[in-house]
This record gives sequence, structure tokens and C-alpha cells, in this order.
Amino acid sequence: MAASRRGFIKMTSLAGAGVLAGTGILESCAGTKKNTKVGTGGMGFDQQPLPYAYNALEPWIDAQTMDIHYNRHASAYSKNLKEAALAEGIAAGTVLETVLGSITSYSARLRNNGGGHYNHELFWKCMAPGAGGQPKGSLLAAIEKSTNSFDAFKNQFADAAKTRFGSGWAWLILNKDKNLQVCSTPNQDNPLMNNAEVKGTPLLGLDVWEHAYYLKYQNKRADYIGNFWNIVNWGFVQQRYDSLI
Ligand code: MN
Repeated sequence: MAASRRGFIKMTSLAGAGVLAGTGILESCAGTKKNTKVGTGGMGFDQQPLPYAYNALEPWIDAQTMDIHYNRHASAYSKNLKEAALAEGIAAGTVLETVLGSITSYSARLRNNGGGHYNHELFWKCMAPGAGGQPKGSLLAAIEKSTNSFDAFKNQFADAAKTRFGSGWAWLILNKDKNLQVCSTPNQDNPLMNNAEVKGTPLLGLDVWEHAYYLKYQNKRADYIGNFWNIVNWGFVQQRYDSLI
């Protein structure tokens, strides 16, 4: 992206990046290029169909929670993201990963809704009916390399999810050194954001906002986290890992 920014500035002969910073013009220019760095094709701003029925993840996640979560919460993030993107001059076709990578150039509204849309679109795919179990092959090997064992990884991930105070997300990411790492973020932030404490590409995410579990679990966040392992779609996580490695 830095190279395309330089090219854009040179090409237009405009007087310095300061004129354009914060307008979204630079980001729009960069965003029209295919984002090869992410390696997952790039995410648009529209909400995609839920890949399974609302009741498909029962008994671990109940149908009513899925319905409200997808149709009200996540749908609103997509809608608000599109409005904010229009207001802030982001060109059509810009991939969301590019925007998140320079999120400090934009408003809090774009940060919250851009993160919210990205996180939920990923989250739905991280789960599948009849999934769970444990990862295999190169992903399992990478997990064992980073945390010694799959059980140790699960404990670390669960701790990140349990100890995130208030609302946020727990993540398994691939960092810039191509190593796996567990972290968490507040609110709808994620590790793609240029101001994230721990940066990388999310492979697996868990929503620990109360709206994700309160109807079934109330204050028992730990039970929700423990049951998440029954529905993790390791095949999807493996695909993301393979596309980046
Ligand atoms: Mn949510």
C-alpha cells in the first residue's frame, strides 16, 4: 500500500499527503488494487448469507441468538459501515482489509462498524454444524509449535476470551513473522487495525459480546467459550492458514 500511495501522490502532483490524509482518497486509491497481502480475496461491505440455518449450531448456540445476532446486530454493522464509507469517501470496490489497515485515518463510526462487519462475517464461517474436534496437518503442527499442544492453545484462547473485560473478541492470528499467536481486542476492533496492540491476520475469532451468548448463557461466559470448541470449523481455519503461509 505504501508503494501505491507514493505512486498516487507522484502521479497527481498534489502538494503532499497532508492534503489527502483523512479524506479517504489515498485509501480509496490503494483499495482498488487487489489486496494480495491478505491472501483471502478481500472482504466487501455487504452482509453475506449465513452459511447455515439459525438452529444449526444448537445446542451450543441457540436459534434465537443466531437470528438476532445475524439479522439485527451484524446487519446493522454492515449498513452503518456502508453509510460511513460513503460519507468518508471510500471508493466502491475497496476491500475492507485495506480500510482496517489504516483505520486511524477514519472516524470512530467507521472503526466500530468496519470492525463489526469484518469480525462477524469471519465469525459465522469459523463455526459449522457437526464441526469441532481438532485441527490437523500443517495447522495442528503450527499450533503445537506456538503453544506446545492443542490443549494448551485452547486454554490460552479461552483465557483471552474470558479475561477480555466488557465487550470484545478473542483471536488466533497469523502474525507478520508467520507465527500463530493468541490475542484479544476490545469492542469491534481486530488485529488488522493499524492501531491494534497485537497485529496479524485473524484465522479464528470468537465474539465475547454479551449479545453473542446472553440469552442462553446469561453471565456464564466461560460455558459459552467452552462449548465453542464443539462447533469450530477447523477446515475453514486451515484454508485461511494455507492461503497466507
Ligand atoms: Mn456480535
